[in-house]
Amino acid sequence: MAEQISDEVISIRRDFHMNPELGGNEFRTMDKICEYLDLWGVEYKSNVADTGVVAIIRGNKKGKTIGIRADMDALPIKEEANIEYKSLIDGKMHACGHDGHVAIALGAAKILKSMGPNLNGNIKFFFQPAEETIGGAERMIRGGCLKDPDVDYVIGLHIDTDIPTGTIGIKYGKMKASSDEITIIIKGESTHGAHPHKGIDPIFIASNLVMSLQSIVSRNISPTNSALFTIGSIHGGTKGNVIPEEVVMNGILRTLDEDTRKFMKNRIKSIIENITRGLGGNSKIIINESYGSLINDDDVVNAIRTVANRVLGNENVIIIEFPSMGTEDFSYFARSVKSCFYNLGCRNEEKNAIYPAHSSKFIIDEDCLKIGVMLQVENALELLNM
Ligand SMILES: [Zn+2]
Ligand SMILES: [Zn+2]
Repeated sequence: MAEQISDEVISIRRDFHMNPELGGNEFRTMDKICEYLDLWGVEYKSNVADTGVVAIIRGNKKGKTIGIRADMDALPIKEEANIEYKSLIDGKMHACGHDGHVAIALGAAKILKSMGPNLNGNIKFFFQPAEETIGGAERMIRGGCLKDPDVDYVIGLHIDTDIPTGTIGIKYGKMKASSDEITIIIKGESTHGAHPHKGIDPIFIASNLVMSLQSIVSRNISPTNSALFTIGSIHGGTKGNVIPEEVVMNGILRTLDEDTRKFMKNRIKSIIENITRGLGGNSKIIINESYGSLINDDDVVNAIRTVANRVLGNENVIIIEFPSMGTEDFSYFARSVKSCFYNLGCRNEEKNAIYPAHSSKFIIDEDCLKIGVMLQVENALELLNM
């Protein structure tokens, strides 16, 4: 079935690719999704979290409800890939493969709709906005997408140019990191560079902090756990002979579970406050929490692994050993119900599908789309019977 609709799924994906929209502005993408769902007679609700769509296929027999999630947004990148279906919108590009995710979910919806009456349960589809920006997943969940009927399991995939077409990468447990943006403001007392004893030097304090904050990962976190804190910007001062009043630093904290996240935040605060105070300055810390860590459920991973072994062959199912410190807002689904997120291989040297996501040259091997459709259909059926 997936083979038969392969060309259609490719052309659906190319249309989205040529018309990329940024997070929160996926209006055309939403309308197009609704057009296809109308065409195939799939029930849906649009404008969920502004530009999202929740579709449902109701089986005649009672059973579980499975959710298939596809993110919809593009990136503010000027496309430099040499392809015939290049982005028509200057400065915007589907460089993370979300166009493919939507096309795969639509293909799966078409096939599952044709099986509709025989399904022993329901399949929901979450076409989700703003993965790259404000976390559309959380907004859709708050909008009630996991309720009525209540969803038992959610699955999602991400196109991946690191692994070849025809393979998938799957991970038990912790898969992706949580993210918190931390701003540190160090207040000193401005004075002449030649008379440092008459003021308090915030640059000296900031230098101490950069070094000391790295001790948390190396000295307080178990070597077998993972966490990182990167200071990505430091601003302070105007002239070599002036000690400034203030330094502002910006950093990013990444962890893989809530306990470590909480611990890291407390240690960061404690080191900043104590060192700054000890050196005579004052500090202010602002923490902006972003996505939580993505943790897959073992039972759902096993179900998807079983399907992939059957459809792709055991040798094409890669069990990922280490988590990534990148983020993914599918984590909100995984925190709410048992879920699995996996990587769909789309690397193909002959087609130049070798560049990483978020590259202006990002190209996917479109043969991965029919594989994605086939897997999501089979996964949904497998989970209905779990
Ligand atoms: Zn991305
Ligand atoms: Zn992405």
